[in-house]
Amino acid sequence: MRVAVLSGKGGTGKTTVSTHLAALNPDALYMDLDVEEPNGDLFLKSEWIDEIPVTVSYPEVDEELCTHCRKCSVFCQFNALIVAPAMTIVLKEICHACGGCAMVCPEDAISYGERPVGEIQKGTAVTGNTVISGAMTPGEYSGVPVIKKALTLAVEYDMTVIDSPPGTSCTTVASLEGCDLALIVTEPTPFALSDMKMVVEMLRTMDMSMAVIVNKTGLGDDEVYGYCRDENIPVIGEIPFSRELAEAYAEGEMLSQMKPDIKKVLEGVWERVQAESIK
Ligand code: SF4
Ligand code: SF4
Repeated sequence: MRVAVLSGKGGTGKTTVSTHLAALNPDALYMDLDVEEPNGDLFLKSEWIDEIPVTVSYPEVDEELCTHCRKCSVFCQFNALIVAPAMTIVLKEICHACGGCAMVCPEDAISYGERPVGEIQKGTAVTGNTVISGAMTPGEYSGVPVIKKALTLAVEYDMTVIDSPPGTSCTTVASLEGCDLALIVTEPTPFALSDMKMVVEMLRTMDMSMAVIVNKTGLGDDEVYGYCRDENIPVIGEIPFSRELAEAYAEGEMLSQMKPDIKKVLEGVWERVQAESIK
């Protein structure tokens, strides 16, 4: 079973929920695929045992062979090649490594190099969970290669909890590959609901099962419940707002060790998660 924990925007409690769900199941694999800003380890405090670099290929043009015919730049739908009369320029950051430019080059002037775009760490959390955490190199255009590589490492696990990137970006979509259930963490506020609606639309186009956890209940309004009812999306957990929880989050403490009532909520969520994914 593979569960992705999502949110419409950052700061709704996605990482809190995903780390604690994993911690309730020490056999579960926890994957932090929020590759722009992975912070699950603030809670899980892993001991890292492996570091795996992520690279992508990019074209290199041999100017001795290149006749500046422009066939490669015409072919490239990402505009990653600029052919000038005196030189051919490769924009590595926007190349999607499709390999097509080398195939259309009549002079065999294109070969491929590799460049680093991120890193994956693998280790064991204080909770006993195996942890895989991906991080993209700052300034990189896309975190998708890091996510795809990380997911290839998850195949041997029966139970996986994924901390997905927030929003509806291509990294969010990439993190959902192979997932059985998307768990949306939201807050009971109009802004959070507006962002959540976009996530729901994305998941509907992917035909994915989904459920909602409302975090910080007691703040805001109850519009989210009406929306979920109308859209037939189950709300499977509610976490009340409290100053103590906010402080624990800021300190990176595992809430399940602190407050029995919160642990009970998350245990209930996990039971529902398993039931929802079986549907
Ligand atoms: S297709 Fe080959 S020869 Fe033509 S511009 Fe590109 S690299 Fe140069
Ligand atoms: S590998 Fe593909 S995406 Fe990259 S420059 Fe060549 S044609 Fe464009």
